[in-house]
Amino acid sequence: MAKEDYYQVLGVKRDAKPEEIKKAYRRLARKYHPDVNPGDKSAEERFKLITEAHDVLSDPKKRKVYDRFGQYSDNLADAAERGAAGAGAAGRSAPFDFTGFDWGTASSTSPSGGGTSFRDIFADLFGGAKQEREPPRPQPQRGADIEMPLSLSFEEAIRGMTTNITVNRSEQCSRCQGAGDTGGAAIVCPTCKGSGQVQRAGGRLRFAQECPDCAGTGRRRPPCPVCHGKGIVPKTEQVKVRIPAGVDTGSRVRVPGKGEGGRMGAPAGDLFIITNVGKHKYFTRKGDNIYVTVPVTVPEAALGAKIEVPTVEGKAQLRIPPGTQSGQKFRLRQKGAPSLRTPSARGDQFVEVQVTLPKIISEETKDLLKRFAQANTENPRVAMGLE
Ligand SMILES: [Zn+2]
Ligand SMILES: [Zn+2]
Repeated sequence: MAKEDYYQVLGVKRDAKPEEIKKAYRRLARKYHPDVNPGDKSAEERFKLITEAHDVLSDPKKRKVYDRFGQYSDNLADAAERGAAGAGAAGRSAPFDFTGFDWGTASSTSPSGGGTSFRDIFADLFGGAKQEREPPRPQPQRGADIEMPLSLSFEEAIRGMTTNITVNRSEQCSRCQGAGDTGGAAIVCPTCKGSGQVQRAGGRLRFAQECPDCAGTGRRRPPCPVCHGKGIVPKTEQVKVRIPAGVDTGSRVRVPGKGEGGRMGAPAGDLFIITNVGKHKYFTRKGDNIYVTVPVTVPEAALGAKIEVPTVEGKAQLRIPPGTQSGQKFRLRQKGAPSLRTPSARGDQFVEVQVTLPKIISEETKDLLKRFAQANTENPRVAMGLE
């Protein structure tokens, strides 16, 4: 009787990639595994067949032979190697001998359940299937980002600054190139003792979780002695940071590539500086706008004047009209903080004037004010019904 086609057995296309074959096999093996179907002969047969199909198709050399001859045996493989095409095409049947193999015994060797016995069976039965037990090579992995706070003065935030800060980051381990191991033969994972699972307590319950140290494979390569399996090593580094003009409290300044180191050649993460801006003696800030209160004299407010006011960029001229009241606000366009979002744009500055009374320093001033009062009999409280 012609054997079922291995590709059909696994339900994959003839050009299926190794991962697809592996995936299909895992799915089917889980379904037909004898542990899952105790006493079911047909499931057991099916399991043997899919295992056989996987063993051949997952091995590039065997798969080549199978694709050429429609079957696989060691004879055919030898023949193919010698170039004697077709010599043994009618050759032997499958190279698997399941007779005398006791599924029950295999399972009972591992009280922890399906996971382990499953793997043991493959490893014991099929040389080729041992590849299944090899932990996967770690994949390139970008490093994590790091956030660090930085305090700076009001003026520094307005002008921007360059500074050196000490960053506790990490770099890819140069010994193992970020793999976390030095490539030796795999050993039984000491963390999970080969089961691929670890027990975690969650409240009063305990449940199994994939072992983090071997990715559930039950095996791992001996960890790199330098990074102890992490793939990265700590590094304290002086990092030059350029803070752009216009940052405010809570701004995030990105320093590319100065986060945690990447693994397997992947780039490092980024460093983010979170700025914390100090207070100013007389300026306050809301977004890109700046606020300041400036005292003016009675004559300046009454008669109007051109006065000097401070801005974050130095002195500026402000014309206040005659009859200016205390608390009145004036806008100086484009004299605020530089905009982080729009380069070369700035916020505005708002100047609130505060009329201050003169100190009465002489009899002459006193007389002047008395004459002023006589000339201006206007009562500012009339609107309140007072006289
Ligand atoms: Zn493990
Ligand atoms: Zn290492």
